Amino acid sequence: MDKKTALDYRYLRMAGIWAENSYCRRRQVGALIVKDKSIISDGYNGTPAGFENVCEDETGQTKPYVLHAEANAITKIARSGNNSDGATLYVTDEPCIECSKLIIQAGIKRVVYTRSYRLHDGVALLQRAGIIVEHLPEL
Ligand SMILES: [Zn+2]
Repeated sequence: MDKKTALDYRYLRMAGIWAENSYCRRRQVGALIVKDKSIISDGYNGTPAGFENVCEDETGQTKPYVLHAEANAITKIARSGNNSDGATLYVTDEPCIECSKLIIQAGIKRVVYTRSYRLHDGVALLQRAGIIVEHLPEL
């Protein structure tokens, strides 16, 4: 494995560890945004700030206002002095179409993820926007 791929796997493992912060039961997702070799933001799936730390309703369905890890990482930058232009997003799971729109608008240029999702319209949208998408499954 080349050095670049080894580094990608290292960031993906960190995103996986970060996902452990999520109190969601159905799926725990973690994301890191890396720019110029620094982690500039992080996120995991969960309810907005100030809401109860429960992602699922009584029937086990994910609440509609739960934010995905990517959305949390991107919006966290909006409150910082940094920006994600040209950055790489590392995420444990293949991005959905809603997050993909945010990724494009955030100026992120590369997305690396571990687990495949059942839908691939998010990745198709990213690729259409010229974003490099790499699937690095767990070794
Ligand atoms: Zn999403």
